[in-house]
Amino acid sequence: MPFMNPGLCGTCHHCQLVQTTRSVFYLCRRSKTDPRFPRYPALPVLTCIGYQKVL
Ligand code: SF4
Repeated sequence: MPFMNPGLCGTCHHCQLVQTTRSVFYLCRRSKTDPRFPRYPALPVLTCIGYQKVL
């Protein structure tokens, strides 16, 4: 099954993959402390003020 291109979330330090048997969700961990960020952003995320590239 092809996966949706997550955009920035795919390389962001704050992203957590949530896998089920049928799908993969991109959870934004910034959403736990900052209401500006949705728990599950609409993908692909093309711009984001919270983005931090995984090192
Ligand atoms: S901070 Fe932005 S780029 Fe990073 S996981 Fe959250 S929504 Fe995606």
